[in-house]
Amino acid sequence: MSTTPRFDVVVVGGGIVGLATAHALVRSGRSVAVVEREPRLSDHQTGNNSNVIHSGLYYAPGGYKARLAVAGCAETVAFCREHDLPHKVSGKLVVATEPEELPRLAELERRGRANGVETRRLDAQGMREREPHVRGLEALWVPSTGICDYRAVAERLGELVAKEGGEIHLGRTVTGLAPRTDDVVVRTDSGDLLGAQAVVCGGLRSDELAKAAGADPGVRIIPFRGEYSGLTEDAAELVKGLIYPVPDPAFPFLGVHATRGIDGHVHAGPNAVLALAREGYSWGAVKPKELLGTLAYPGTVKVAQRHWRYGLGEVYRSFSKKAMVAQIQRMLPEVRAEHLVPAGAGVRAQAVKADGTLVDDFLFVEQGRGAGSILHVLNAPSPAATAALPIGREILQKLTGETLGPL
Ligand SMILES: Cc1cc2nc3c(=O)[nH]c(=O)nc-3n(C[C@H](O)[C@H](O)[C@H](O)COP(=O)(O)OP(=O)(O)OC[C@H]3O[C@@H](n4cnc5c(N)ncnc54)[C@H](O)[C@@H]3O)c2cc1C
Repeated sequence: MSTTPRFDVVVVGGGIVGLATAHALVRSGRSVAVVEREPRLSDHQTGNNSNVIHSGLYYAPGGYKARLAVAGCAETVAFCREHDLPHKVSGKLVVATEPEELPRLAELERRGRANGVETRRLDAQGMREREPHVRGLEALWVPSTGICDYRAVAERLGELVAKEGGEIHLGRTVTGLAPRTDDVVVRTDSGDLLGAQAVVCGGLRSDELAKAAGADPGVRIIPFRGEYSGLTEDAAELVKGLIYPVPDPAFPFLGVHATRGIDGHVHAGPNAVLALAREGYSWGAVKPKELLGTLAYPGTVKVAQRHWRYGLGEVYRSFSKKAMVAQIQRMLPEVRAEHLVPAGAGVRAQAVKADGTLVDDFLFVEQGRGAGSILHVLNAPSPAATAALPIGREILQKLTGETLGPL
């Protein structure tokens, strides 16, 4: 008779949040299994993002994002250094190109100060000393922002988990979770696992997984694709580091930015368009049932009613290179259409409430307490890659009451 494998905690999802959580759990001496449905780790948000180590500048003071991103910024750099992973603290410019953006730039400066993030205000000349090809009125210089390779960070976390005796199950889909008095049965397409507790870090599928555990997620994940363009070699010299616009405070997205990655390539993006499937990486990726579910959700209708003009603009820019170039030219006037080549996309898992509110902060929902409980991570968009290490410790603390220091 075969017995069901049993662990202190089963973690669903092998993206950076699931792996950082598993890492914190094994550090605390617990037995852990990570269950990932793809054949390799980090194939969704974690492996398809801008690879920016965010400073913590943007986020409302006092929230999870502010606290965990500021800690995560320093910890990600330290982790990369310790494990010899590619990274660079290059600093970034946030550029105001229109007079109406100046008050928003001042607000970012204030938030930065409240969150303990160092910034410096630069005039047009000051910003050109950092980025000679930028055009703008004023800018904020944020020295602590950096770049890395989050797939490499996540893979190293997976190795560390395995080294400490944790199990990583790839190509195994979780189909349901059944909380019981003393444990949680985690049902997969290849047999059950038992965890005294479970954590669900399912990214684009986190609301579905909450429902599959009998919980009411209170939100729906709406997939917003972010498309990137690469700058050709001759245009790449126009960007030394990271150049960002002033974000529109109505949206949790940072706007199309230009980033020189650790491989030296420069990309511009991401935009934000509704994806037609949860893992809808292109316009051709359509899953009618998922799309109908998205469109029928009252929250989607409300978002569309409120932001239709912005949404249509993003769709137009997705199809029209000319429109995309015009947006980049606001900060980098020398970029031309022939400089841009398609460079892939990522899909953001954005939690939306039924009233159309785009959930801004990270969202952790606890289904029960102690043995037999499940913790659902229901909103972990940017900067959750930056914040992953402290998020993992935060989840350990929520599950067990134990606090763990940084590495
Ligand atoms: C375009 C874009 C740009 C971004 N830029 C940045 C940035 O520069 N800096 C930053 O800090 N953050 C950035 N982010 C955000 C960052 O990528 C995410 O916050 C982070 O990767 C979330 O990690 P995760 O583990 O929660 O999700 P994911 O990486 O999506 O992992 C979830 C995992 O769960 C698995 N899963 C789902 N369902 C099941 C199931 N039923 N059974 C088993 N496994 C399942 C999935 O296969 C997946 O591997 C960006 C995101 C996007 C999309």
